[in-house]
Amino acid sequence: MTCGEVQPFIEDYADNSLDEHRKEQLKEHIDICPDCRGDFDSSVQLKALLKAFATEEPKCDYFEKATALIIAKISGDSHQSKEAH
Ligand SMILES: [Zn+2]
Repeated sequence: MTCGEVQPFIEDYADNSLDEHRKEQLKEHIDICPDCRGDFDSSVQLKALLKAFATEEPKCDYFEKATALIIAKISGDSHQSKEAH
């Protein structure tokens, strides 16, 4: 594989969401190509960081607050349209 063929799959490879055959091809290339290995490493690190951030502080009340705001807006709008009649 060439770098151009490898690049589109690096994200998926970092996600470990490739099939075995493709994974082998990627691994072979990354073993011999420092450029693609660098991209792969930073993808893995970025994903690990995002995962750490996502699990660090679960904002459970976010959806409740958002839903309350939406309901308030909808009921406010329907109230206004009733008054317009
Ligand atoms: Zn490469």
